[in-house]
Amino acid sequence: MKYEVVKKDITVIGGGLAGVCAAVAAARLGKTVALVQNRPVLGGNSSSEVRVWVVGATKNGVNRYARETGIMGEMFVENQYRNPDGNPYMWDLIVLETVKAEKNIELFLNTDVREIESSGKEESRTIHSVTGWMMGSERQIRFESPVYLDCTGDGLIGFLARAVYRIGREARSEYNEAWAPEESDEITLGSTILFYTRDEGHPVKYVPPSFAKDITTTSIPERRIIRSGDSGCHYWWIEWGGELDTVHDDARIRDELWSVIYGIWDYIKNSGKFEADNMTLEWVGAIPGKREYRRFVGDYTLTQNDIVEQAEFDDQVAFGGWSIDLHPPEGMYSKASGSKHLQADGVYHIPFRSLYSKNVDNLMFAGRNISASHVAFGSTRVMATCAVIGEAAGTGAAYVVDKGITPREVYTSYRKELQQTLLKQDASIIGIKNEQEDDLAKQAQVTAYSSCEIIKVDDSAESYRLEKDAAFLFPVELQIDGLQLKVNAERPTVLTVELWDTGKPQNYIPHKQIATQTIQVQPGEAQWIQTELVWKPETIQNAFVIVRKNPDISLCRSDQPFTGVLAFEDMGDSKSTGLYEHEKSLVTKWSARKCARKPFCFQVEGTTKAYSPDKVINGFHRPYGGPNLWKSEAMEERGEWIKLEWDKEISIGEIHLTFNDDVNQDLINLHHHRTPFDIIPELVKKYAIQLWMEEGWETIVEVDDNRKRKRVHYLDNDYHTSRCRLVIYETNGSASAEVVEIRVYGKNEEVGRHISS
Ligand SMILES: Cc1cc2nc3c(=O)[nH]c(=O)nc-3n(C[C@H](O)[C@H](O)[C@H](O)COP(=O)(O)OP(=O)(O)OC[C@H]3O[C@@H](n4cnc5c(N)ncnc54)[C@H](O)[C@@H]3O)c2cc1C
Repeated sequence: MKYEVVKKDITVIGGGLAGVCAAVAAARLGKTVALVQNRPVLGGNSSSEVRVWVVGATKNGVNRYARETGIMGEMFVENQYRNPDGNPYMWDLIVLETVKAEKNIELFLNTDVREIESSGKEESRTIHSVTGWMMGSERQIRFESPVYLDCTGDGLIGFLARAVYRIGREARSEYNEAWAPEESDEITLGSTILFYTRDEGHPVKYVPPSFAKDITTTSIPERRIIRSGDSGCHYWWIEWGGELDTVHDDARIRDELWSVIYGIWDYIKNSGKFEADNMTLEWVGAIPGKREYRRFVGDYTLTQNDIVEQAEFDDQVAFGGWSIDLHPPEGMYSKASGSKHLQADGVYHIPFRSLYSKNVDNLMFAGRNISASHVAFGSTRVMATCAVIGEAAGTGAAYVVDKGITPREVYTSYRKELQQTLLKQDASIIGIKNEQEDDLAKQAQVTAYSSCEIIKVDDSAESYRLEKDAAFLFPVELQIDGLQLKVNAERPTVLTVELWDTGKPQNYIPHKQIATQTIQVQPGEAQWIQTELVWKPETIQNAFVIVRKNPDISLCRSDQPFTGVLAFEDMGDSKSTGLYEHEKSLVTKWSARKCARKPFCFQVEGTTKAYSPDKVINGFHRPYGGPNLWKSEAMEERGEWIKLEWDKEISIGEIHLTFNDDVNQDLINLHHHRTPFDIIPELVKKYAIQLWMEEGWETIVEVDDNRKRKRVHYLDNDYHTSRCRLVIYETNGSASAEVVEIRVYGKNEEVGRHISS
């Protein structure tokens, strides 16, 4: 055995998406990081070893404008480009490359951490080192750093350091959670092994192993949906072990899961009930995907009520949006639905205080082991949410190192700065504005060659019969002077149209009714009908317009998306099946899933300022109350430009551009996800940055093939100018140029990778 010591600013243990994003975030802020992962592949449950697909705040397209940005967002968008078929090995590469791109990260694969050194009284302990053993290399490595991040999912590091933690479900009385049981217990969600199948193109026989279970002797065939051809996460319900210890009984759980998988395959192949002659097993997991084990206790424990009420925190550093998704203790053998869902009205906030230990002073955590009650964990546990939590924790750890303080002191003294740094990195945080004084763009006058001032969706590609209520949403700044709808009517009829607000700025549901109107409609094709709906809200916000059911009318519908405009159909209350049981929810009732990128035809009278050029410096980097971006008119061949102008000359060293990558578009890393495009069409493709020098406009940056949301340009020279403009020549498909944010900073020795202090 070789004995080695590795000293870094930060040690991250666990290379799931939480650990990966924590390491990358800290490394991008100039901190050295050891990322220690006990398996050969990064990605945790999302890796090709387990193959759980990555979902997050969009809840598979249920929540609007909720897709994650930052490191997770970069991986989603790049995966969609390189891996539209959702090949698990290609996803592994995206994650690995994201880590390898950071020179500040030293990656230790196959390195299992199982020993730590710590000391101190129970209420204030310190970790001095963690030691791992690298499989296949006979290297024992001791990692030393001022701060440690436990991203192991199971929480072994914190446990060894004697951090306070919970396993199982809290009693209802503890946090007053409606979904908690009366009495506390040690029940967790169970573990799952997934499998992939393939059509071989010729008959294939299947002889089950002797240990395969006869599933017809269980409740599985009658309670669960079993279809030939399903693969991977379609079988998330093959779950067991919630009543056992999911770590210490892991081997027993694995054997039970294997016996059921081989039994299900026997049922599919040999029962005669499925068309499966040519089907074969392509892959069966060897590692049970674990859903739940320890949850550490931090200075704050996130609860069901925080999620449902979308509570605000002065240290909110990330957001989630998946439903609270809990499963019965008996897992696949349960007679109850495989999962129970409770959906908030939109995305909710996660505080920094849930990401560090209350009693181990240099221990932080991210992923499924954060400080949340069992019920809240039911939502925070999905991987894109774990990833954004990871980015926030890694950024917090960079503060710990930079300032020589504890994570708790980051909360007490630097929480605002932490939020500002996260925003600058385009992280998934919502409702917080850029307030960085060194961002010179904020002092500029912003103008553009053109900007969208009329909200009008006109091209009618199809007809949508109003057999149920439908709705659409658009931003209102400053007012609506009237609204027209394009409809087809078969006979004279009366149409009811209602105008609602949406409540919280991150919500996209009807909240409070503003006005209603009934309109006489005469027969006619593609006719514009006039409503007198008017509204002047105090601040920019979205209008939610409901068009009530009327089968004599069809709404005209476009196939051209219009940024900031959404369409919905009323799906009623969700039905329960053997797999899913849903609490009533306005978000699932008003579904935008099948209407994504297909708005109804309507026009708003008067002009709007919702897409004005100054939106690129209004401080918000994602939709919140309105779209928060500049949108040009349809682009002409010569391109569009947006210009920043200062009263006096400034020195420019660093320019940040954030383009629109349509965070309403749901993306998933693995196999079931398809979009008609590999690159989000709204993303700007070809652009230049120009500065006004003595002789006129000088091009200092040119990019021909962009497919990223956030681009940062560090300039070689220290340029002095009073005017800077972004010229956009081409997008990846959409008709207008759209820019979310422009930031401008002076020359910085650390090439801009400094934290906000
Ligand atoms: C079957 C199943 C279905 C699910 N469905 C979904 C879904 O559809 N979408 C979704 O997004 N989420 C889903 N989840 C939840 C999600 O997968 C987990 O909550 C998530 O993976 C937690 O992320 P993490 O980074 O905290 O932990 P993990 O993904 O578990 O990663 C932790 C990593 O740490 C490593 N590690 C552990 N101990 C050590 C150690 N001592 N030393 C070094 N390394 C260590 C592990 O090998 C692992 O790679 C599901 C989970 C399961 C099991």
